Amino acid sequence: MSEEKKSHGNAPNKERIETLPGQECPVCKEKTCTLTEMDRYIPFGDKEVLIYVFSMTCSSCKYHKADVEFSEENEPIKITLDIDNEKDMNIMLMKSCEATVKIPHITTMEGGPTSNGYITTVEGLFNRVKKAVEFARDSSEDEEDKKKAKNMLNKITRIMWGQEKCRIIIEDKTGNSAVISEKAVKTKL
Ligand SMILES: [Zn+2]
Repeated sequence: MSEEKKSHGNAPNKERIETLPGQECPVCKEKTCTLTEMDRYIPFGDKEVLIYVFSMTCSSCKYHKADVEFSEENEPIKITLDIDNEKDMNIMLMKSCEATVKIPHITTMEGGPTSNGYITTVEGLFNRVKKAVEFARDSSEDEEDKKKAKNMLNKITRIMWGQEKCRIIIEDKTGNSAVISEKAVKTKL
């Protein structure tokens, strides 16, 4: 991405969206990939911070890639968030594709080129985890694995209802991750 494209002057148009259809898909090579670049402002304490959201979707092979990035350079960061009530489900977070998300005793989602970046809420994050566990439950032939997945789903539901505490740790060497909450503890990675 060119620097020129990244500079937007002092008059930011909120939620600018640029769409480039008909691009070559990196997977199936058909020219059916749509690139989308979007500016978003997310609240950060008492100010708003500009972030870029990118996505690439191929209508032929269904390849999808998305990522988020701060408009300003950031340091490698580790963010820890303790969840202990239902209201915490509304906390907004941003996770770049390079970020690893650890939810101890539940899962670790490794970052990397095949991972996606997104902005979501804690609830949205748990819904993603739930989907993955449900998929594991439905696709496994092993009774023991099915049982484990079922217990895990119950645990996730209890957390989402504020009946069980849990911790979310986001580690991002690119620094393009954030948790929008005073409860979040930020340290250098
Ligand atoms: Zn494709």
